[in-house]
Amino acid sequence: MKQPAKIYDLCVIGTGIAGLNALFVAREYLPSGAKVLVIDRNEQCGGMWNSVYDHVRLHQPHPMFTVGHIQWHWDTNWNKPPEYLADKTEVINHLANCLKIISREIDLDIRYGNEVVRLEEELPEGTPRVAVEYRPANGQGESVFAVAGRAILASGFDVRPLTPLKIASSSVVSTTPEHFLEAVDKAHPETPIVIAGGGKTAMDAICELSGRELENPVTLINGRGTSFFNRKLFAPEGRKRWIFGTTFLRTFRKITMRFNGNNEKEAFKYFRKKFAIETGRGKQFVFAFLSEEEKSLIEERITSTYEDYLEDIIDTPSGPEMVLRSGEKISIPRDSIIINCTGHLLNGQMPYRPFLSEHGTILSITPRSAIQFLSSASSYFLSHLFFLGRLKGSGLYELDIQSLKHKAPTAWHIATMVHSFHNSILLLELLPFQLVLRCGMDLDRWFPKERRLLDLIDIRLNRKRYLERSRKTLDRIANRHGVRCAPLD
Ligand SMILES: Cc1cc2nc3c(=O)[nH]c(=O)nc-3n(C[C@H](O)[C@H](O)[C@H](O)COP(=O)(O)OP(=O)(O)OC[C@H]3O[C@@H](n4cnc5c(N)ncnc54)[C@H](O)[C@@H]3O)c2cc1C
Repeated sequence: MKQPAKIYDLCVIGTGIAGLNALFVAREYLPSGAKVLVIDRNEQCGGMWNSVYDHVRLHQPHPMFTVGHIQWHWDTNWNKPPEYLADKTEVINHLANCLKIISREIDLDIRYGNEVVRLEEELPEGTPRVAVEYRPANGQGESVFAVAGRAILASGFDVRPLTPLKIASSSVVSTTPEHFLEAVDKAHPETPIVIAGGGKTAMDAICELSGRELENPVTLINGRGTSFFNRKLFAPEGRKRWIFGTTFLRTFRKITMRFNGNNEKEAFKYFRKKFAIETGRGKQFVFAFLSEEEKSLIEERITSTYEDYLEDIIDTPSGPEMVLRSGEKISIPRDSIIINCTGHLLNGQMPYRPFLSEHGTILSITPRSAIQFLSSASSYFLSHLFFLGRLKGSGLYELDIQSLKHKAPTAWHIATMVHSFHNSILLLELLPFQLVLRCGMDLDRWFPKERRLLDLIDIRLNRKRYLERSRKTLDRIANRHGVRCAPLD
């Protein structure tokens, strides 16, 4: 028999960094005694950090990967320098500590191992509320129904572990970033390793190999090459923070003034020249950092690189042969290890939900209705606006980053920078200044306040011009590529 639905003030779906930021903000607005239902498919908080490969590291300095402005002190002996790139366990421990801190202040009913299968706004007697249905993620058990005054969906990028590449050859080992080390440990020290993909996952795999001092030759199949944010510019160390490098806000402003929605090749070339570090031709882009030192380390470890794409590996009488998209065929030894590093992000097709539901009870933080590229900071800002009732009519553009990436692979990254810049200007007006400054995920917090203030003064002086320019570009992107890129209302 169906149980009567339990009633909550708020339901938060997802306990990754975005869901935790939503909870952090909620505790500032909910009345005392409020009840919050928290649901996550995983068995603990931390989101995608639980499921990606063990050797993953943060690519930004660790203090800027947090919840609200909670500092990294889950371990009382934590004394790493700010530029330290935390590993997977450290990230998960920090996020768990953040949840512990939040749960001291609000009453959380956490249902790990459960999956939300229905989240709908309903209007019984004219008052909007949210109907939630969830059930055990392993499929073994009944649905549970709940009702909440509001809900925040922080379901992330739907990051799932990669699967091995499907290849015809039966004489090589096809594996994933999660499992390749097991294969390497079992292999002969001369067995070659082939890495398909040139983004952060591939770079992490190569760094891991070089850290382990394994001798196996490494072949990188690097597509059209990748551009990364130059770590030295965006996170210069020591006193250089005062004079060297550039903030993200300033960079995105410069891109906004170069990109008009049509000239992505030229604008991206400018970005690469001024702000990026490239591997190969640098034609693709990932929102990740790389330094010259990291690049040299990686290059030292690579035996050969192909600027091409792996289509298949076939068995021939003389042994396995890699077939590349260009038609080139390359013989490789038997038992070679092939790692699928073709990327976890924005590959599938998540369902669209506006960032605010029609009657204002459901906030969604997803890449299909994004207000900027970081889900963590988006959650912080959107949750504040949600509770303050300032989202309707805010003018914030929602961008379907996932569709744009598929439809405009050469423009999506540049458009995302303009989009972030546009919405940052509005956020500065929609929210109290102190609240914006306190956002711990803001990557520009790396720089002294005085430097950041210069950016803010510039925005204040030129606001109208910047907004006009970025809106024109974003509207053109929407029309040209047929993607959602417009204010919600
Ligand atoms: C390999 C890799 C490395 C990365 N490195 C960095 C980095 O260094 N720095 C950085 O800023 N970003 C990085 N990212 C991007 C990263 O995904 C985000 O920064 C981030 O942690 C996302 O947080 P999130 O809370 O939005 O999503 P997630 O961490 O994915 O959390 C979403 C949660 O929602 C739950 N969920 C989803 N749907 C449901 C449902 N229907 N019912 C119940 N639960 C549900 C999921 O189980 C999950 O726990 C990386 C991504 C990848 C793939």
